Amino acid sequence: MRHAYVTLVTNADYAMGAEALVRSLKLSGTGADIVVLHTGGVTGGALRPLTALGVRLVEAELLPTSAAFNERHQRAKLHADAPFTKGNKPSFHTPLDNFAKLRLWQLTDYERVVFIDADALVLRNIDRLFSYPEFCAAPNVYESLADFHRLNSGVFVARPCGKTYNDMLAMLDRPDAFWRRTDQTFLQAFFPDWHGLPVFFNMLQYVWFNMPELWDWKSVSVVHYQYEKPWEKDHPKAEKLRPLIDLWHAYYAGEGIPDIDRLENPTGAT
Ligand code: UDP
Ligand code: MN
Repeated sequence: MRHAYVTLVTNADYAMGAEALVRSLKLSGTGADIVVLHTGGVTGGALRPLTALGVRLVEAELLPTSAAFNERHQRAKLHADAPFTKGNKPSFHTPLDNFAKLRLWQLTDYERVVFIDADALVLRNIDRLFSYPEFCAAPNVYESLADFHRLNSGVFVARPCGKTYNDMLAMLDRPDAFWRRTDQTFLQAFFPDWHGLPVFFNMLQYVWFNMPELWDWKSVSVVHYQYEKPWEKDHPKAEKLRPLIDLWHAYYAGEGIPDIDRLENPTGAT
C-alpha cells in the first residue's frame, strides 16, 4: 500500500479526536492505510481504541528544535506575541506539538499521504487526493475573502521524502524564526506555490455561522473543528455549532450517523 491518511496525536484529547476521524475515514470506504503518529505523551490506554480500529500506530518524537525555538513557540509566549482574536484554543493544545506533523515526510514507504488534523471528520470518500501533487491544501477560509490568501494546514497532500524533511528542519529552526501560526505559517512559506484545494476539502466550522452561504452538505467532504473542539464541555460557541457538534459525537460513538446529503444547511445558506 503506497497511500496513507496520516494524523497526529500528542495527548489523550487529540486521541479522542482521532478516534472519530478514523471511524469517519473507514466509513468513507477508503482503500488507503490509516497512520496515527503519536508521541510518548499519549498513554497506551488512550491509544487502545485506535488500535482496535486497525490503524497503523507510528511513534514519533517532537522535532529536535533548539531550546530558543521552543521558548519562542511555547504556548503562553506565542499567545502573547500572536494573540488569537477570532476564537479560543483549548487548554490541551500545545502549539509546539503542531510541528511534529512534519514527521510525515519521513514516512517514505508511502508515495503520497493526505494529512488530516485529529479534529476533523471525513464525510465522503476523498481517495482521489492521492493522485494530486505535492503540495495541496485548502485556503484558511472562515470569515472573509481575504482568508483565501492563506492556507489551512488541517488537510494537505504531501509526498514523503527524506531530503524534503531535512530541508524543512533547516528552514524551520533558523535564528529568530517565529512561525506565528506554527506549522501552518511554515508550510505556506516552504511551499509558496501551494496548489489550492476547494474549501469543501477542509470546511472550517466557523463557516457555519460566519459564511453560511458557502456551506452545502452536498459538497462538504471534510469538516474541520478549528479553534474550540467538539468534545470540549460547553465551549462558548457550542450553541451556535450544535448541529456540527452533534455530528462529531455521532461519529465518535459510531452510532446515529446521519445521511450527509440529507442534513439541513445553516440558516442563510442558498
Ligand atoms: N496536535 C496535537 N497536540 C497538541 C496540538 C496539536 O496532537 O497539543 C495535533 C492534532 O492532530 C491537531 C493538530 O495537531 O488536530 C493541529 O492542532 P489543532 O487542530 O488544535 O489546531 P486548529 O485546527 O484549531 O488550528
Ligand atoms: Mn485542527
